[in-house]
Amino acid sequence: MTAKARTRFAPSPTGELHIGGVRTAIFSWLLARHTGGEFYIRIEDTDRERYVPGATRRILEAFDWLGIDLDGGPDHDELRAMPSNEDYPGALDDGEYKGIPGPFVQSQRLPLYKQWAEWLVAHGYAYRAAETPEELSRMRAEAQARGQTFVFREEMRLRTDVRPDEPHVIRMRVLPRDGQTEFDDLIRGHLTFDNAQVDDQVLLKMDGFPTYHLAVVVDDHLQGVTHVLRGDDWLPSAPKHVLLYRYFGWPEPRWAHLPNVLGTDGKKLSKRHGAQSVFEFRDQGYLPEALINFLALLGWAPGGGDEQNVFTRDELIAKFSIERVGSSPATFDYNKLDWLNGVHIRRLSDADLAERLIPFLERAGICIDSPARRELLLKIAPHIKERLKKLTDAAPLVDFFFADISTPPMDALIGPKMDRQSSLEALRATYRLVESFEPFEDAPLEQAMRALCAELQLKPTQLFTIVRNAVTGKPVTPPLFATMAILGRETCLTRLARAISCLQSPGE
Ligand code: GLU
Repeated sequence: MTAKARTRFAPSPTGELHIGGVRTAIFSWLLARHTGGEFYIRIEDTDRERYVPGATRRILEAFDWLGIDLDGGPDHDELRAMPSNEDYPGALDDGEYKGIPGPFVQSQRLPLYKQWAEWLVAHGYAYRAAETPEELSRMRAEAQARGQTFVFREEMRLRTDVRPDEPHVIRMRVLPRDGQTEFDDLIRGHLTFDNAQVDDQVLLKMDGFPTYHLAVVVDDHLQGVTHVLRGDDWLPSAPKHVLLYRYFGWPEPRWAHLPNVLGTDGKKLSKRHGAQSVFEFRDQGYLPEALINFLALLGWAPGGGDEQNVFTRDELIAKFSIERVGSSPATFDYNKLDWLNGVHIRRLSDADLAERLIPFLERAGICIDSPARRELLLKIAPHIKERLKKLTDAAPLVDFFFADISTPPMDALIGPKMDRQSSLEALRATYRLVESFEPFEDAPLEQAMRALCAELQLKPTQLFTIVRNAVTGKPVTPPLFATMAILGRETCLTRLARAISCLQSPGE
């Protein structure tokens, strides 16, 4: 086993947790768990303009739902101290996380960033500047007009005598000016950036908040991060971070910039392709087990001829390795996710499936609000398992167990290649059988009904179509005889009687 990795997921609370971000988190978590290390969440809330109240709570709740366990993250006190009080019942108490120094919310670590920004100034790696946003946009526009990308340098300052006690920013000095910054990425290999293209990045803003670039380096170092995994849209920022590590004289973490996730049409994943946020997937009836399995395969495969696609969490943890993450973009195939979800649903125990179905049934108006109804759902669960791709598929398959049905239209009660009279006779014969047949159970019932087909000279599909429609009100249901046994003799008789009177002419 490789050395223990300490990894983090560092979302900015600017909206819903997007599925691409979750994949990054899953890879980080798998790496930590595989090596017996630690995984934690740090909230990067330094951009006050993009801050969305409630986003932090929803991110943490999404991790709870996914079952991704943390060794560190914002506790009750930290969440309560956020501007919009992000506390939620699942958060841990202070002190329950051990080993990784908090706080885990960047806005609660401001003195640290100031301290290290000043350290950089004192050691010649950073300087003060005070250009206004308007001045900067003018400079940017002028550079663009010359066909150049705008790269800020110290000598471009409009005021050089900026005092520490007046409003200003602190910018890093990219050094050496004409050199290159090189580093190794676990996924992209050896990378080289021309310093001439790297901006003298603002590290500390006028409002006293750090930019992402300073905060991420200070925190990853102080919190002992060994591997930085993030989307490769962060690659252009990496040389700035690498330089800061070198200025501070801190050991660099291993870098791993993960390839993008694209839709099957090769375009960047967007609303057009389907669900985007973790909660959308949850509400559409996906299991966390399936989502984790699916996301882990976006860019990673066990390799070595191992074709396995279906993984439990433990199997993923055992097999994951960052070296086997590919560098080409991964494709998000919703059909594969549906397939995997079906596989994971079939792996659930009946009791677990029943439990997970409850909120979906309730949402569809089927209340599972008594022990008897729970019991009934538990009996149904094994019979629908095979037919579910998503938990949302269940309601139309089970509603007739929990509520009376309206008598189906006459057409539905006439069997294929049959007429009203022969269908009526078939229903009457079924009624008589159901009235007295013992034991009223799945397999014996099937046998008896098949014998009845022979007796009536009907094909099974003919008789079973009529009976299915009569007792469930639907053409597609869980297996018919299990359904009848669960509905019970009385309910079947009531529904068959209604179907009979529907086919019967008045006075017949
Ligand atoms: N806060 C950054 C984000 O929102 C984190 C990037 C990183 O992991 O370094 O994606």
